[in-house]
Amino acid sequence: MFIDLQEAFYRVIRPLVVEGPIDDDLIANMAARIDLDDGFLHDLHAALRQPSALVAAGVPPHLRRAIRALHTDTYFKLPMQPDQVLTHIGTRPGDSFADVIFGYMMAKVLHKFQQDMDALGLLLHIPQEEAFGLADSSAEAEFPFVGPCWMDDLCICLTAKSNLTLERALGTATGAILDTFKSFAMTPNLQPGKTAIVITPKGAGTKSWKRRLFGPNSDGSFYSVGEHHPYRVPLVTEYTHLGGKVHFSSTVKREIKVRLGQAHQEFNKNRKLLYQNVNFAIDKRRELFHSLILSRLLYGAETWTIQDRQTKDYLHGGIIGLYKRLLKWPCDQPISDDEVLFSTGMPSPSELLRVRRLRYLGSLMAVDHTACWGLLNQDFEWQELVKDDFRWLWHHLQNCSDLGDPTMHLPRWVEIIRWHRGYWRRLVRRALEHAVGVHKREFLIATAHTRFVSILEDFDFIQRAQEAEPAPADEGPVFGCMSCQISCRTLGGEGAHMHRSHGSVHPVRALIGSTQCGACLKEYFTMGKLKAHLIRSDVCRTTLIGRGHREQPLPGLGSIEDTLRKQSWDNRPPPLPAEGPRLPDVPRRDFEAEHGGLYEDIIMGVMDIDIADFETYVRECISSTPISWTLCRRTLQEVHNQCQQGIPDMEPQRLNDFLQIIARLMIPSSWPFLLKLRMTPVATNWGFEEIEQKLADLQILSSQQRVPRPLGKERVFLHAFSGRRRPGDLQHYLEAAFGRNSEGVILHVVSMDVVIDEHWGDACNQETRDFWLRGAREGYVQGGLCSPPCETWSQARFAQLEDLAGRQPRPVRSLDELWGLHSLALRELYQVAVGNELLLFSIELVICLAVSEGFAVLEHPGEPNDPTKPSIWRLPILQFLCQLPGFEYVDFAQGLLGAKTPKPTRFLTLNMDTLPQFIHSHRLCADLPKTAAIGKDATGHWATTGLKEYPPALNRALGESFAFHLLQRDLAEDVSVDQAFLNRCRLMHVTEFGSHYGPDYHQKRDSKR
Ligand SMILES: [Zn+2]
Ligand SMILES: [Zn+2]
Repeated sequence: MFIDLQEAFYRVIRPLVVEGPIDDDLIANMAARIDLDDGFLHDLHAALRQPSALVAAGVPPHLRRAIRALHTDTYFKLPMQPDQVLTHIGTRPGDSFADVIFGYMMAKVLHKFQQDMDALGLLLHIPQEEAFGLADSSAEAEFPFVGPCWMDDLCICLTAKSNLTLERALGTATGAILDTFKSFAMTPNLQPGKTAIVITPKGAGTKSWKRRLFGPNSDGSFYSVGEHHPYRVPLVTEYTHLGGKVHFSSTVKREIKVRLGQAHQEFNKNRKLLYQNVNFAIDKRRELFHSLILSRLLYGAETWTIQDRQTKDYLHGGIIGLYKRLLKWPCDQPISDDEVLFSTGMPSPSELLRVRRLRYLGSLMAVDHTACWGLLNQDFEWQELVKDDFRWLWHHLQNCSDLGDPTMHLPRWVEIIRWHRGYWRRLVRRALEHAVGVHKREFLIATAHTRFVSILEDFDFIQRAQEAEPAPADEGPVFGCMSCQISCRTLGGEGAHMHRSHGSVHPVRALIGSTQCGACLKEYFTMGKLKAHLIRSDVCRTTLIGRGHREQPLPGLGSIEDTLRKQSWDNRPPPLPAEGPRLPDVPRRDFEAEHGGLYEDIIMGVMDIDIADFETYVRECISSTPISWTLCRRTLQEVHNQCQQGIPDMEPQRLNDFLQIIARLMIPSSWPFLLKLRMTPVATNWGFEEIEQKLADLQILSSQQRVPRPLGKERVFLHAFSGRRRPGDLQHYLEAAFGRNSEGVILHVVSMDVVIDEHWGDACNQETRDFWLRGAREGYVQGGLCSPPCETWSQARFAQLEDLAGRQPRPVRSLDELWGLHSLALRELYQVAVGNELLLFSIELVICLAVSEGFAVLEHPGEPNDPTKPSIWRLPILQFLCQLPGFEYVDFAQGLLGAKTPKPTRFLTLNMDTLPQFIHSHRLCADLPKTAAIGKDATGHWATTGLKEYPPALNRALGESFAFHLLQRDLAEDVSVDQAFLNRCRLMHVTEFGSHYGPDYHQKRDSKR
């Protein structure tokens, strides 16, 4: 029961709260104005003789006197008027001491009500629990529970074991609370939409009570007898309490709908200026979106428990829709949710809710025992959600927190939530940021692999195994229009299209004249319900058709009229039976299952048309008929059935051929347009195991010998992650070797590194990546060397060293989680993200060079001896690439070529069969050096830092090998490279030497992300 008070604050009779002299005239005056009759005057008199509310609340005498003084001789002035008005009643609205006494007054009322109700045993009792009880606690003490109250917004909750006792309790409670208010000279507002009752009947007798409450004989009110008056309180199905909608069925769907509407409204307000303004970076817009729109959308969401799938999907779709608006993407495009989340960098809808719940838990803990834990702990569904939220939190934090698993160490977590709120908030925020980072990582890896496979497939390197061919065609029903050649998502959508575009209606609609079923006379309250009844109930439908019942189709399900009807009915009364004359029984008939015209046409075709032209003929018949797929398939089925029974004068063999064609046309995959909506744009949801499986399923087309194509005069070599230019580097030896043998061929060596060019050297930039990858795919770039940063893979991370500072990089990948551990510190997460991004770019570059018959080397530290350690060479994609024609592993130790340490290294080479000989001929020493590069050197730098650059002998071997291969290709004068591309290459041809090592990756990115 929700109670609204009229002018709550202006009518407080001060002596009831603060003691003091009682002015009989004043009270009589006021009583007359608010229609207090004698009975209530008597009660008021009694109330005034009792101790005041402040006394009852135990306020010490000096404070009582102070509060009384504040409420004595109060006055107000009207502008333009010299005199003052003395006030004797009401609180002091607008004052800094406003409404304080109202709270005491309300407390007094509620205490009285509670005592009265408790004496009758009608109140809900809940266990007295002190804290959040994820672990089950059984408290013995109980206390009576009235309901939540915020200033003058009061809600009284009653519950009972049966509908009958609930009705009695409600009657008593309604009278009692309204009486109590009146006896304190406060007047409940009984107008519609103010004070109201929401009932959820359950169990035996529900239907009959619902019929009594909401049926045709009810006026939509609940009656109760008070001490002096009867009361009539409106009965509603939904009430807005403190900004949240309470629905009798406890569904939050309506609430979600309203909230989504408000969020879109808010979005529209600043759509052009803020949210879709491309001049703002997405980060900024995301922040605004978070604080302005999501706060609106998710107000109160921390308490939502959503039971049904449909509502969950509705909320999910709504939030994704808002995200799409933020990106300015059309709502109806089949873009996967993962892509939307990736592009916005927003958390998924379920994570938004999780974070809100976890924060709410913090607020509840802050108010301690007043949070009514006994009640909250009984909300099992919500508790389950919170438990799951803790699991989620732990999943993301476990590797960077020593708090322990919440399922085992809950007290510790509770302690943090209660006493360290700031820390708790930071933990939750960190988990959310981590979750978003992990999504991004998964999305990037999945899409990159999809791309790799499709590039290799397009250029005939591989083919998908036959059995691995996805067969989405026959799973789940499809819908669509055969004449417009479009597909629809649902049967409803198909019906709506057929109605809108072709004017056809469901045949059942001809049987509907009102919301009452003509056969069984039941009242269904909405057209939609009745339609469903007639489709389901064969008896009613066939009876009506048998009677020859025909109505003009009325606006049906989905029309404005029916939506209004549905809103006003709101699931209140069940279908009501009615009585009337029983019509004589008629022979029952049903609708024809097939489309008459089409059926005739196809049957004629079977008899007349040649078997070779039959399929074309049927397809023509179908596409010239405005018919839905559902009906079309049913018609084909009928034809099929008919033919199976045999057609006179036709050989069984010939008939069999016809049957096969018809059967084929009944499969959705024979009509590609029907499957359009089912196609996902890219398989972005591949998990890591799936990637491995898909790669394993691919078939390598190795036998094909490729004839190398001749190259133009200008040749481009791309050195990715080259670092600074220095004496004795690869470029030096490559150019030297080239200079010796070139014969009019020009070489451009592009140093692609952020230390060379902020933009075009940054492999973390999508535009840059696309530019170079296109160059490699088109054959503008013929050679490439990439040595993606190895710091996140480094074996040095596994060394257990005592570091003076106490902090040393720890492993961030494992054999099972090669792309990064599932839980990391945020800093490590970003390091791994950049490491992955650069590695994926390198792999894609090599693949692109492979399809354009170029040369490439991908360099990384050699595969470790320990089979449990992570290494890029244990990634499925690299193991797969190595099997492709032209790819080769070359293992060697840089120590033999002059490096300070052994440094075992592996090259994945592409079309570079001479490289091992070149490396061998450049060996400088016979034995490996003895030092190891783990830990820090004398100057406090990581010992691995100096190893990033190759020893000159290795550069020379690489340079000569590349030059050899690049020059081996024939020269063709007519092959030319895109000029804009060449100009960019010329700009990145570096001739000056740099003086210091660059960072492993762009440091600035760290702060940007
Ligand atoms: Zn159509
Ligand atoms: Zn019926």
